[in-house]
Amino acid sequence: MKDFKRYLITAALPYANGPLHIGHMAGVYIPADIYVRYKRAKKTDIKFVCGSDEHGVPITIRALKEGVSPQQVVNKYHAIIKESFEQMSISFDIYSRTSNKVHHETAAAFFKKMYDDGLFEEKETEQYYDEKAKTFLADRYIMGTCPVCGNENAYGDQCERCGSSLSPEQLINPRSTLSDAVPVKRKTKHWYFPLQNYESWLKDWLLEGHKEWKNNVYGQCKSWLDNGLQSRAMTRDSNWGVKVPLPDAEGKVLYVWFDAPIGYISATKELTDDWKDYWCKEDLPAGRQGTRLIHFIGKDNIVFHCIIFPAMLKAHGGFVLPDNVPANEFLNIEGDKVSTSRNWAVWVNEYVKDFPGCEDVLRYVLAANMPETKDNDFTWKDFQDRNNSELVAIFGNFVNRTFVLMHKLCGGKVPKLHEEVMDDIDKTLIEEIQNSKIKVENAIEEFHFRDALFEVMDLARKGNKYLQEKEPWKKVTGDQQLIDNCLHLCLQLTANLAILINPFLPTTARKMLHLMKVVDKILDWENAGKLKLLSVGYSLRAPELLFRKIEDEEIKAQVEKLRAGLVKPVTSSALPVTGNQKTETKNLPTGQAGQKPEIQYDDFARLDLRVATILSAEKVVKADKLLKLEIDLGFEKRTIVSGIALHFNPADLVGKQVIIVANLAPRKIKGIESNGMILSAEDENGKLHLVNPEQLINPGAGVS
Ligand SMILES: [Zn+2]
Repeated sequence: MKDFKRYLITAALPYANGPLHIGHMAGVYIPADIYVRYKRAKKTDIKFVCGSDEHGVPITIRALKEGVSPQQVVNKYHAIIKESFEQMSISFDIYSRTSNKVHHETAAAFFKKMYDDGLFEEKETEQYYDEKAKTFLADRYIMGTCPVCGNENAYGDQCERCGSSLSPEQLINPRSTLSDAVPVKRKTKHWYFPLQNYESWLKDWLLEGHKEWKNNVYGQCKSWLDNGLQSRAMTRDSNWGVKVPLPDAEGKVLYVWFDAPIGYISATKELTDDWKDYWCKEDLPAGRQGTRLIHFIGKDNIVFHCIIFPAMLKAHGGFVLPDNVPANEFLNIEGDKVSTSRNWAVWVNEYVKDFPGCEDVLRYVLAANMPETKDNDFTWKDFQDRNNSELVAIFGNFVNRTFVLMHKLCGGKVPKLHEEVMDDIDKTLIEEIQNSKIKVENAIEEFHFRDALFEVMDLARKGNKYLQEKEPWKKVTGDQQLIDNCLHLCLQLTANLAILINPFLPTTARKMLHLMKVVDKILDWENAGKLKLLSVGYSLRAPELLFRKIEDEEIKAQVEKLRAGLVKPVTSSALPVTGNQKTETKNLPTGQAGQKPEIQYDDFARLDLRVATILSAEKVVKADKLLKLEIDLGFEKRTIVSGIALHFNPADLVGKQVIIVANLAPRKIKGIESNGMILSAEDENGKLHLVNPEQLINPGAGVS
């Protein structure tokens, strides 16, 4: 292994546009924190930096929608995110933010140095401009009708209803979200970073020099490099962000992916005056290296951390480069991808409220199930199982039995070890304790956190087995030496477990220190594998449970909460369901995700809901999602266009009854006038189900 003087660990800057969910934790922050806590216990010179990423278009859009300033948006989420990290014991040396002055200065100076060195290409392109608001429009600021599904509120980069990715040019009737004006094309100048100039250097540095990187990371980088790199614009037209530090750059800011990774440098600057020790290259004797820079990220950030940022660092010069980027895959929830817009997520700030004192349980489950090599699934059932049958039944049980027996059979004091009566079972246990240290260490060094945690749990399992074999409670008074040996070793094993579990479950480790009445110092990694951690005759506290059982009702409540947050009780298939409506649901108070604000009876009474019978159904040409339905309302027949084509076979719908909103203003969809809207409910898999009367009744019947 290479020998480094010091370590600098970065964790991906969370975007200050929403709270943290457990996918973030499992992918980035828990692995980074385990690694850092382990290295700190080894007395390594290490710094752990992170902060909120507070620039970029989605934040300005949220600000616009909420009628507040971008600064207010980031202030709100920065506080929520920071608190979640603290509650989950993520032990950053600094949690900074990119709206800080020091960051603006650092990022601007970085850009200026590259500009002065002639490393950018200046290019003029045509982009959409809002003449009323007098500003260029990022793709997200342009809305219009989706050419694929007819959604009138599709964004310039994506239709959130049908999922098509779009460019602003494809939108029918484009309009500015700022002023509703029709955007016009205007010329604008930007600074491009010619990544292709660094292609051969990157191939050499990364593909040749870092074959040890995780397969998922290396593979993604290789395919980017094999496909060839191109110039990328490093500036944007916006007023929110780091201003481009050039005289002719009014209204232009640095591209958020240019400024965000520089945030690692600014955070280190803010943390210590010695920041250069961690970031700048130095001349050292052969074999000895300066800083080992490691970026912990999720797989969606691989290209930015493995290709673009290293190329920036190389171009700027003088900085160390990442030595490893152990990116994780994604964590799914209950078999489905996490979606913040669909509110399909387990939010950290809600978890800590629902399970107070159980932060380590979440750390355990996420580490044991970390998506290290492929996407993994989080289920509440597995969460309960891992808590009840691993933390409670194995780890907690061993520690508790040891303390109970020590108080009962050894007077509450650490008994003596009588070497003369030790047997093979005792000696095997001692070997296991020593081996576990090596196994855990090797696994963590290789970023195999799941395996490392498994080894810790396995040692506790061996402790239980040892107790079961020795049965000290069955021994008679004359066997006191055997009883002493058993509990002496179980107590030394307990101290070892505290050291080994500390990187993973720091709060639990501290609870164990409390029980053993010892100080933090014992958690130094060099103590792992040792057998004289607790002195003979030392009196220890009465047993306290480390973990509590998690009941079926708690799990049921979480599953229901998750589903309730997602399922819209009545969804309109004909109305555009835009992402922004759904994203907002996550700002509602705990437990009410997905619910709409209270209305008065009069609001409801304005809806004319009626039973209708479907007379015919056919697909709309060139629109996969749309069905044209003729329906009978008893007093009249109507045409309704509905976005349900992916969920129903048209022929099966004929003769079925549905509930429609009969007094919805007519609208043209794909040139067909739609008169009303069919109600359907969406299940947890995103499949639509029609809402209809239990049995056939007269069409036209009112619904209330
Ligand atoms: Zn669409």
